[in-house]
Amino acid sequence: MILSESKTETRLQGIGVSPGIAIGPAERLGRTLEEPEHLTIDRSRIESEKARLSLALVATREQILELQQEISSSEGESHSAIFDAHLLILEDSSVLNEVLRITETQLRSIEWAYYSVVKRYIDSLRKIADPYLRERAVDIEDVAKRVLKNLRYSGTNGEDGRVLQPGTRIILAHDLTPSDTVSLDRTKVHGFATEIGSPTSHTAIMARSLNIPAVVALHEISEAFSSGDIVLIDGYHGLVILNPTPSTLAGYETIIEREKSILHELEPLKHQETLTSDRKKIVLSANIEFIEELAGVAEQGAEGVGLYRTEFFYLSRKELRSETNQALNYRKVAEATRPHGVIIRTLDIGGDKLCPELFENPEPNPFLGWRGIRLSLDQPEDFRIQLRAILRASAHGKVRLMFPFISTLEELQGARSQLELAKEELRSSGIPFDEKIEVGAMIEIPSAVMIADHLAKEVDFFSIGTNDLIQYTTAVDRVNDRVAHLYQPFHPSVIGMIRETVDAAHRNGIWCGICGEAASDILMAPIWVGLGVDELSVGASQLLKARLAISRLDSATCRKMTDKLRDCGTSTSVRKQSLEMAEKFYPELIL
Ligand code: PEP
Ligand code: MG
Repeated sequence: MILSESKTETRLQGIGVSPGIAIGPAERLGRTLEEPEHLTIDRSRIESEKARLSLALVATREQILELQQEISSSEGESHSAIFDAHLLILEDSSVLNEVLRITETQLRSIEWAYYSVVKRYIDSLRKIADPYLRERAVDIEDVAKRVLKNLRYSGTNGEDGRVLQPGTRIILAHDLTPSDTVSLDRTKVHGFATEIGSPTSHTAIMARSLNIPAVVALHEISEAFSSGDIVLIDGYHGLVILNPTPSTLAGYETIIEREKSILHELEPLKHQETLTSDRKKIVLSANIEFIEELAGVAEQGAEGVGLYRTEFFYLSRKELRSETNQALNYRKVAEATRPHGVIIRTLDIGGDKLCPELFENPEPNPFLGWRGIRLSLDQPEDFRIQLRAILRASAHGKVRLMFPFISTLEELQGARSQLELAKEELRSSGIPFDEKIEVGAMIEIPSAVMIADHLAKEVDFFSIGTNDLIQYTTAVDRVNDRVAHLYQPFHPSVIGMIRETVDAAHRNGIWCGICGEAASDILMAPIWVGLGVDELSVGASQLLKARLAISRLDSATCRKMTDKLRDCGTSTSVRKQSLEMAEKFYPELIL
């Protein structure tokens, strides 16, 4: 990586949503075809520009063929035919000749020449009345995006001749939806920065579980950065630094070293039980969105998976949605999490996790709309496909099942009836499953808290989804950074809701966990111990820190503190009391 000394360092402040430091070349993701820099080249560069185009075309061809093969083997040849059309577009000689002519005669960079030719085709296709031809504009755009992306990573880029490292990059975008994130190459993305977003948006959650430093709510990002700029992401402090100077980089070395030494201290805690200092057990499991995370989760010593969010797998590719494919995926998780097991949550589509086929018309308030169990109960056939797939996986490990977004007792009873039907369907086909599979309800809506005693009689456990419980209790949209300061996990009303839920669970003889992001917040650990929470399902990167924090806490002292919280009227006063305990018992973990 060549850092340009002449460029000035620029700092942007946002909200850090996933801790860690990442440095690398930026890649700006545009929703539409993004116009590259309008660069003029020296005549001596014409041949090397042409060579870059050839390389990018070869790389694009390979990627398209790979995709075609993947889709053809999973979905059949007819579905992969679209990629033949993409190959034809890629190799269209009239387009390529025109691109080369512009570079040769007008001395424009090959990116700009390619962009300008393709953009003209797209614009004229979009004006045609015939919907079929209009649709082709999408295909051309798709191919062009790939070519331009490959051009960015082939050899030099731009007039300064800077060499970009292939494979490592920091993604900069206006926004990343969960489905955008699903389709990124997760092995190559080292950091995220987006203009909008908040700590509990699903993109932020995914960044944390993939251990990718991320910063959101950076309003000026589009103007400040270009693809290829060197960028530093400081996920601890919510900072994004463009063109960091050598002295800035040296300062960050110290933070990276400190983080390494904490990790070293945590190492012996892997594969230990999680016990308070007075030996009260709390199960510490991990949240996952993708099965690729399983190895990391086990590495961190998680006691199983406390929340498998199945919608990301489901949304990533349509052809994965068959009962067999879902069952295979869940089976892998069940086998990998032995002996502790996994809690598989049925689909929680809706809110910020939209499925394009199901949401043709946008809803006025997606977070208050057709989401989670509401959607599942309205599509019982599809719901039972997933229930049968989960049940089938239960024959291969310890599988628990839970329903998201429960707001009424009838919904929970309806979901249980569908589960009974799904069991009956498997029995009549002679397919084995765990007859005693445990079933839980997510408590993430205030109406569910208020009827928790009734809900508890229907299930084996509760899992509190604080991400939503905070948003619905405080009327603060979890993805709206404008009101992010009002999204307060320490709000006394939120703590009260959690207290009610845990007490109702225990009154009815069932256990209660927390699987929202607040479970991972080590500043809240004294509250969870004091309230008597039985399980915490956390982001893998926070697991050992949570284990250390809990091991230093005594449940009676924590209980005294949480009793005093009843008198608090503000988040600040609740936070202060919990922070005091954290600073006293595990100061080294407070950055
Ligand atoms: C939650 O709401 O806290 C939760 C765990 O579910 P999700 O973040 O997927 O809505
Ligand atoms: Mg939720």
